[in-house]
Amino acid sequence: MATKNEKIALNQIAELGCIICSEILGIEGGSAAELHHCRRYGAVRATSPILPLCPEHHRGNIGLHGLGVKRFEREYKISCEELLERVSQKLGKDDK
Ligand SMILES: [Zn+2]
Ligand SMILES: [Zn+2]
Repeated sequence: MATKNEKIALNQIAELGCIICSEILGIEGGSAAELHHCRRYGAVRATSPILPLCPEHHRGNIGLHGLGVKRFEREYKISCEELLERVSQKLGKDDK
């Protein structure tokens, strides 16, 4: 039950494209992203802890759900928290 503003924010995150493809693998204009909610950080962050991930990096064998968070973070040598930071930076705002 997202409000209109929340929906716009979610669209902006999705439009960034997959954060692993673009930030870690350096693939420009990466695949269309699905939104992954990192519940783990939900309590400590002001903004919705959401990562844009392509289907492969989200649900695929090499993805967050396929590998599990710990293996995923090891595989790409970055934590979900850092990825969330990159998302905020890409959105170009210090979210309130
Ligand atoms: Zn990807
Ligand atoms: Zn997910």
